[in-house]
Amino acid sequence: MTMLQQNYQSVLVQIAAAEKAAERHAGSIHLIAVSKTFPASDIREVYAAGQRDFGENYIQEWYAKTEELADLPGLVWHIIGQVQSNKTKFVAERAHWVHTIDKLKTAERLSAQRPEHMPPLNACIEVNVSGEAAKHGVPPQDAVALALAVSKLPNLKVRGLMCVAEADADEDELGRQFLLMQDLLKQLQAAGLEADVLSMGMSADMPLAVACGATHVRIGSAIFGKRNYA
Ligand SMILES: *Cc1c(COP(=O)(O)O)cnc(C)c1O
Repeated sequence: MTMLQQNYQSVLVQIAAAEKAAERHAGSIHLIAVSKTFPASDIREVYAAGQRDFGENYIQEWYAKTEELADLPGLVWHIIGQVQSNKTKFVAERAHWVHTIDKLKTAERLSAQRPEHMPPLNACIEVNVSGEAAKHGVPPQDAVALALAVSKLPNLKVRGLMCVAEADADEDELGRQFLLMQDLLKQLQAAGLEADVLSMGMSADMPLAVACGATHVRIGSAIFGKRNYA
């Protein structure tokens, strides 16, 4: 086993432990391996260990990797960074999921550009659950309205909600934010949407996110190592 494959196995063990501690069903949490800034060869290694879902933030970087990895069957690409309107076409043509919808306009472009032969693009509404000024996402009180508007688009399927937790919040505050996400998902369901996905939890806060109802956790550095943005 390579070092990345060992990291990957230990993340799977940590997720299983978090499921058990939170009395969630074994195997119910989906892992998205966040590979931003890491080369396609690293994705290949983790793929060889069995991982299929990968998350990327930067559209150009990601698109190049889709070319390099075109020989790997069954890869599932999750876009977890902002999608500028001049990049929606790439996402519409190659991604399986977009977790960062916070404007109807972006969703409309993605739906219009989704090729006819492809299944609907899975979409999560990004919520700025902490209210930090620098964060993307809709304010919590606007999440249901945006989800309902997006659900009317023919080539997108609203699956649920996503958030990026506040980096320096304590456990109590983080727990409060994650539980607000869980409550918002219930509001989506009460509004008639079939959505059941809560995309939350990263390397540093995964167990708490799982305890608060996360269904998809996005783990980068615990698998691939420290990122170098240079
Ligand atoms: C980078 C990133 C992650 C992964 O973060 P780690 O702390 O490396 O696990 C998850 N979600 C989003 C939106 C990210 O940008």
